[in-house]
Amino acid sequence: ARYQGGNNAQFFHQRLATQPVARMQMEKAMRSAITQNEFSVNYQPKLNLRTGRIDSVEALARWIHPENGLIDPQDFIPLAEETGLIAAIGEQVLNKACLDAAEWREQNLGEISISVNISGHQVRRDDLYDVVHNALCQSGLPAVYLELELTESMLMEDIHHAQEFLNRLRSLGVRLALDDFGTGYSSLSYLKRLPIDTLKIDKSFVAEARQGAPSPIVEAILAMADSLKLKVVAEGVETKEQLSYLERLGCDYAQGYLISHALPTAEVLTLIRHTNLD
Ligand code: C2E
Ligand code: CA
Ligand code: CA
Ligand code: CA
Repeated sequence: ARYQGGNNAQFFHQRLATQPVARMQMEKAMRSAITQNEFSVNYQPKLNLRTGRIDSVEALARWIHPENGLIDPQDFIPLAEETGLIAAIGEQVLNKACLDAAEWREQNLGEISISVNISGHQVRRDDLYDVVHNALCQSGLPAVYLELELTESMLMEDIHHAQEFLNRLRSLGVRLALDDFGTGYSSLSYLKRLPIDTLKIDKSFVAEARQGAPSPIVEAILAMADSLKLKVVAEGVETKEQLSYLERLGCDYAQGYLISHALPTAEVLTLIRHTNLD
């Protein structure tokens, strides 16, 4: 009865919108999940289009509820954001991901980087630097193998603060990525001022090229990234046509169901071994 969670989770989710009692119950369940360590991390590979290898993975939170089974982020992240519990969840995900990545380094897989999502809540608190520093120290993972994914909207509220904040994080040696890129309203001049390494093109734009037809937005983002010397990851790649289109355009990485869903540790390692063989 474990992974029959899909329907339950949806039920959970639908009730939340309308019933304050259900919300309170879920918040309570989430608090206990944090102390009971019910959150686990799955990893979705990113395919390096220049080498054909998987050299990085994105850590994605999963909640394994003892009664409701597997609950997806879309069903618990919104409430976690609202209540601020996302900070504790995000910290657990970060710690686990760093420990896993440090362990992988001892397994002859080649260099594997991990990226971890950071919520707006964590950005607004002032302890993210310490939290990241801690995760690196505890795991022994060299900072260059950790990338933090932030969204442009959470940074745009205050450019001066964002600049300072990101520079400070960057001084730890970690990489920074802008997630869901294209959905906010960043200008070129704004982007130039931020110390970021990577743009992740939002899957809604990548979807325009599903059948291999050109997407003006994808091409504009790639041109912009090129002139700013940023790496680009296309997310939500689901078809071969999209993949070859992105390859032709010189996109650096592809992530999406065509390559793999997010997988538990053992399975993602098997996939990496298999893909990187030879
Ligand atoms: P995101 O950061 O944009 O992550 C990508 C989402 O797209 C993931 O959903 C992933 O499973 C899904 N995806 C990947 N490939 C494809 C594809 O080819 N097609 C489609 N349609 N979808 C694809 P997931 O795991 O449900 O996560 C949803 C969101 O929840 C994430 O979006 C992220 O914003 C948030 N999230 C997940 N884990 C964490 C976390 O540890 N901390 C924080 N702050 N947010 C998290
Ligand atoms: Ca992400
Ligand atoms: Ca994204
Ligand atoms: Ca997205």
